[in-house]
Amino acid sequence: MKIYNSATHRKEEFRPIEEGKVRMYVCGPTVYDNIHIGNARTFISFDVIRRWLIASGYEVTFAQNLTDVDDKIINRANEQGRTAAEVAGEFSEKFISVMRAANVMDPDVRPRATKEIGPMIGMIKTLIEQGHAYAAENGDVYFSVRSDPAYGEVSGRKVDELMVGARIAAGEEKRDPLDFALWKAAKPGEPSWKSPWGEGRPGWHTECAAMVHRYLGCPIDIHGGGSDLAFPHHENECAQAECAWHEGFANTWMHTGMLLVDGEKMSKSLGNFFTLEEVLEKHSAAALRLLMLQTLYRSPLDFSWERLEGAENSLARIAGTVKNLMWAASHAEGEPDAALAAKLDRAVIAARDEFERQMDDDFNTAGALAAYFQLVTEANTYLDQAGSAVDADVCAGCAVGIAGALTILGIELPKVEEELPVGLLGVAAGLVGYTGDDVNEAAEKILAARAEARAARDWARADAIRDQLRDMGVVIEDTSAGSRLVVKAS
Ligand code: AMP
Ligand code: ZN
Repeated sequence: MKIYNSATHRKEEFRPIEEGKVRMYVCGPTVYDNIHIGNARTFISFDVIRRWLIASGYEVTFAQNLTDVDDKIINRANEQGRTAAEVAGEFSEKFISVMRAANVMDPDVRPRATKEIGPMIGMIKTLIEQGHAYAAENGDVYFSVRSDPAYGEVSGRKVDELMVGARIAAGEEKRDPLDFALWKAAKPGEPSWKSPWGEGRPGWHTECAAMVHRYLGCPIDIHGGGSDLAFPHHENECAQAECAWHEGFANTWMHTGMLLVDGEKMSKSLGNFFTLEEVLEKHSAAALRLLMLQTLYRSPLDFSWERLEGAENSLARIAGTVKNLMWAASHAEGEPDAALAAKLDRAVIAARDEFERQMDDDFNTAGALAAYFQLVTEANTYLDQAGSAVDADVCAGCAVGIAGALTILGIELPKVEEELPVGLLGVAAGLVGYTGDDVNEAAEKILAARAEARAARDWARADAIRDQLRDMGVVIEDTSAGSRLVVKAS
């Protein structure tokens, strides 16, 4: 398996630190508002990466924090006359539930910054003792960037280049404009905790480094986040952890490309965002995931409602083919053409192999999905050519292959067909005298009666059957493999 390491700008053969195990950390959200689908793109991308690692046989431990203390949360709380803890509590719960709605697996560990103050203070103390950090007069503690010769290794920036334009803002007591806060002295009315440097709260970068160390141990295999986090957040996390513990921090850095709207990054500050919640009210999680996964996670992705609509249609087409394959498998009649069946069988195996090859090549979901789009086309051709004389095993194998590959990507196919309504028994009794209680059997009898009526050119009867069914929301679908009754989508 190859993974693109954004710190080295190369695809590298993935070798976990511990055989068969992967330790992985992805920075979580700052919980001051609902997340938008740009944030969701990053979380869905890493969900798929995690799912593929698991499907490949790795035992994956996945940790993700909740940043539940931050300027944005404090500002929001002040605007709304609430406490920061109330705001953070509300949006933490909303985040957890909307991630589940998007079919993103829960992390194995979900630490919250406010519950991890002790380990963070411990890390800061270690850094001060080793000369990598200093406490200022006002109670702030800063990391000394120039004390870390490796600084810049994650984002590829050079310390001297960073100096250009760097300034010390009013109220900061840094020795060097490049230094960043590990601990911030409390301002009146802000949430704060006791520390050796007085009342205060941790800096954002401090949080992730301490949690990685506590819950996963350094170094970890994969550290991820959106590409906008590479600098300064990930650079600073890495600097702290390496300087504090001297064990390395992350072997592979993975960064997702930004979700764009009309060529611009979707963000709260630009106001060009759609929340994940509102998108999932209009569209299925499966369609949103399909849309996202048709682009490589590292590339930018332009969002539009038309593209999401397109993904919804593709999904319906795939689901339709899977349904037709299953239906054909259970209604197979006559001797199947062995050559045609063997061709489809080979296509099933080729799709599976290609899917695996593409996913092993830096999680190329776009290529992996393309393999299955191709298989769907071949399956449709087969169903057309074979009529009802299909090879049931090959059809079922193909259907399971398509649905299984999508499940690995966390895409659940929509149920294309609801169960036939029980009321059909009454229609069957009136039309064909069927008095049993099996709805599917009743459907078969009705279809047989209609076929008979049509064969006898008794159009009035055939139409009457169709109309009675339509009145109860059931339509007759004529396919190359025969006719069937389906509940009309409302
Ligand atoms: P935040 O709460 O701002 O730290 O964002 C949470 C995650 O979403 C981070 O990994 C960000 O990099 C990521 N993110 C923010 N905006 C976008 C976007 N437009 N496209 C993709 N990922 C994003
Ligand atoms: Zn982080």
